[in-house]
Amino acid sequence: SELASMMDVGVTDVITACMNLGLMVSINQRLDAEALVVVAEEFGYKIEFVTVDTQEAIDTEEDKPEDLVPRPPIVTVMGHVDHGKTSLLDNIRKTNVIAGEAGGITQHIGAYSVNVNGRRITFLDTPGHEAFTAMRARGAQVTDVAIIIVAADDSVMPQTVEAINHAAAAQVPMVFAINKIDKPGANTDKIREELSAMNYLVEDWGGKYQSQEISAKKGINLDKLLEKVLLEAEMLDLKANPNRMAQGVVIESTLDKGRGYVATVLVQNGTLRVGDVMLSGTYSGRVKAMFNERGTRITEAPPSTPVLVLGLNGAPQAGDTFNVMDDERSARDIANKREQLQRMQGLRTQKHITLDEIGRRIAIGNFKELNIIIKGDVDGSIEALADSLIKLSKEEVQVNVIHKAVGPISESDVLLAAASNAVIVGFQVRPSTSARRLAEKEEIEIRLYSIIYDAINDIKDAIEGMLAPVM
Ligand code: GDP
Repeated sequence: SELASMMDVGVTDVITACMNLGLMVSINQRLDAEALVVVAEEFGYKIEFVTVDTQEAIDTEEDKPEDLVPRPPIVTVMGHVDHGKTSLLDNIRKTNVIAGEAGGITQHIGAYSVNVNGRRITFLDTPGHEAFTAMRARGAQVTDVAIIIVAADDSVMPQTVEAINHAAAAQVPMVFAINKIDKPGANTDKIREELSAMNYLVEDWGGKYQSQEISAKKGINLDKLLEKVLLEAEMLDLKANPNRMAQGVVIESTLDKGRGYVATVLVQNGTLRVGDVMLSGTYSGRVKAMFNERGTRITEAPPSTPVLVLGLNGAPQAGDTFNVMDDERSARDIANKREQLQRMQGLRTQKHITLDEIGRRIAIGNFKELNIIIKGDVDGSIEALADSLIKLSKEEVQVNVIHKAVGPISESDVLLAAASNAVIVGFQVRPSTSARRLAEKEEIEIRLYSIIYDAINDIKDAIEGMLAPVM
């Protein structure tokens, strides 16, 4: 249909031309490059493929080591529903008002900074691994440290496992917060035990993972938890260069009745200032005003600062990056190009791996790791399958099982696959409708099996470049 309108001919004519060439196509079907050339030729057109550079004019120069200074860590809270994520974020927000700054945090802008004994920590205010991985799937790695919260009157639950695996897949260090210790039924040893059964041995038990018993509701030991987060962050030696044009990530954005488009962004490098020309996703604009989480007007935002920005001409998506540009014109140009590209590609930004492609990619030498997510009906078969798949690793390619769990294939699995370029294997389970839809949109491969041996064989053949094409 798009090709027909470009050539200004009828859609049915294009479909007929395709059929004459032996291509059975529907109106919305995408043609590959070769087919496009041949079909267009039938109508007297010549197709030329151009690459659109949407990065030109963006300052991507590496910082010199001497320009870098320490920056505060950015922290996300994840865990099972009702284990206390919101309570923890609320309590930290309430109690850690930055010294010398009047007023508590009045607004939810998607992130906030607190002061812990003179050091800052920035929290992302949308808890949960879904938000975390959704941003990663859009290419934004924002979090430096993850707090995994587990209620001590409950257990390590399916979403706790998910949160841990999502953080691990992103290689984000974790600090465990064992919550609700004020409750009579709390059993913190049981939680440590369950974590160690997953190979996450906490420090108190001689392992390498920091943990802290807390009560998010009563505010017990939150200072100790934050100290541990800072310790973890120190080891990462986080640095940024405040003396360059800002770049960062959009945390959330909306259209506000009175103020126009407002976006909360997190500055990752450089300093953002009022008056700067900003480019984010397919939008651009000059920063008219900036506010912090206290609703106070500010004029500049150094690295790791969350800030609400007025002045963009649209609402970019959470996880979109932003850059400050030299002039409005080049910002607008790139925004327009991106929009055009998006329309042409139907929002697809990245091509994800499929089993069919693995052999070819290994052969040309640019594929070193195969990430797999396994969902199944019973734990025993999932473990057996995971073990066998990991054993298929060989010199050229390492097989990683980045997440495995009982249950149907969910949207969160698909997001993780998109963020980590993984293939999903379902054993005796199916994807939910929403997961299937998302997988189609993100082009994530889901392989369903009812016999373990078939799954192992397919992956083995894929690695050896011998997978029979799917007909
Ligand atoms: P979320 O779903 O992980 O965000 O969990 P919430 O923060 O909404 O907490 C779920 C419930 O547990 C709420 O009723 C909280 O008041 C309660 N809760 C959270 N932390 C604690 C705690 O430390 N002690 C007690 N007794 N209750 C807590």
